[in-house]
Amino acid sequence: MSNTTDVVIIGAGAAGLMCAIEAGKRGRNVVIIEKSEKIGKKILISGGGRCNFTNRTVTRQNYISRNPHFCTSALSRFTPHDFISLVEKHNIAYHEKKLGQLFCDDSARQIVEMLHSECLQHNVHIHTDTEVHTIEKTDETFTVHTSNGTYTTQSLVIASGGKSIPKMGATGFGYTIAKQFGLKIIEPVPALVPFTFTNFPFSEASGASLDVEIECNGTTFREYILCTHKGLSGPAILQISSYWNHGDAITINLFPDTNVHALLTEHHTSKTELKNFLSPYLGKRFAEIWCELYMPSKPLAHYTHKQIESIATQLQHWQLLPTGTEGFAKAEVTRGGVDTNELSSKTMEAKHIAGLYFIGEVVDVTGWLGGYNFQWAWASGFAAGQYV
Ligand SMILES: Cc1cc2nc3c(=O)[nH]c(=O)nc-3n(C[C@H](O)[C@H](O)[C@H](O)COP(=O)(O)OP(=O)(O)OC[C@H]3O[C@@H](n4cnc5c(N)ncnc54)[C@H](O)[C@@H]3O)c2cc1C
Repeated sequence: MSNTTDVVIIGAGAAGLMCAIEAGKRGRNVVIIEKSEKIGKKILISGGGRCNFTNRTVTRQNYISRNPHFCTSALSRFTPHDFISLVEKHNIAYHEKKLGQLFCDDSARQIVEMLHSECLQHNVHIHTDTEVHTIEKTDETFTVHTSNGTYTTQSLVIASGGKSIPKMGATGFGYTIAKQFGLKIIEPVPALVPFTFTNFPFSEASGASLDVEIECNGTTFREYILCTHKGLSGPAILQISSYWNHGDAITINLFPDTNVHALLTEHHTSKTELKNFLSPYLGKRFAEIWCELYMPSKPLAHYTHKQIESIATQLQHWQLLPTGTEGFAKAEVTRGGVDTNELSSKTMEAKHIAGLYFIGEVVDVTGWLGGYNFQWAWASGFAAGQYV
């Protein structure tokens, strides 16, 4: 089977679907090729099944990229408000959970159905169960070889995502294609991912959740950490993991709203044991393990001033050295990808390969937790959709 079409988009994820809708609106003949049996698989599992589809406030500061300015153009041309309007047009009820994060009231399936119905309305052809194997370029035409025949097109969009969750079919396909055409890649690494530790001492406090301030390489977040059997997870850890490189320490303030030195000094005459004093703040098991590790528990009155100072420092500047992360198997996104210096920020087209576009997670633009990654997928898909 051989098809000739105006636009071929590889990947029916958030970015590919949005690009197809926009190109379809312009009357372009669009085919999406998707290797899975269904479209929008990551959307379906996102946000715990309710899809955190955007954030009320989106700025370039919410993204990590070798070129921090690259994302500004696309984000300003398709804003959270634009996506919210689409959601409202389809009568999808939604709510803000916290920190501007918008979720469906009911199910992430509604977002996939919305995108599918927009695709149908704009005559987009979606070919699922079709895997792209290789791509060739001759003069101005791309030939796309798939498990179901060959496609030829002048505009080829790579929307094949990153490497996170290989179980769901994620591969490095987009990077292979980028390299084939001589584009540079910023090394893809797992991001928004839990940390692991060798012999994690707090595994017995697994399930404990603490509101903390966390810092790594000059970036700080205020969110929750969660103790797991293997190490630390929770939104604060996922956020900071995107700024972490192997060998870096992370610093946690377990009392982000309190001057612990002043608090302990105020209670310095108390007969309460340290672990019992800390329990209401940190939870019983966590407080016990913390004392076993850092300061044998005894009545507060028995500590010297120097020890009180050291306890306070340890609680507010708790330094940890993660061994690693849970890797792509558990990472929500991939940091790194196609170097943005290779792409036009206006069109997402490769600067030196006419007709070749990269959008979504395959590009070196990585959002924070909280709807920012979908907003990048929508915005970069929208941008390319105006030009393909
Ligand atoms: C568990 C989880 C929860 C998440 N929750 C949120 C959230 O609530 N909010 C948020 O903003 N972000 C969330 N994310 C991140 C978000 O899902 C991604 O950033 C986003 O889906 C990226 O969209 P994309 O279109 O670039 O890539 P993808 O959604 O990964 O789509 C790429 C598509 O390309 C297809 N493909 C790949 N290779 C080929 C090939 N060779 N041939 C044919 N097809 C191919 C894949 O099958 C896939 O369908 C979450 C991620 C995970 C893993």
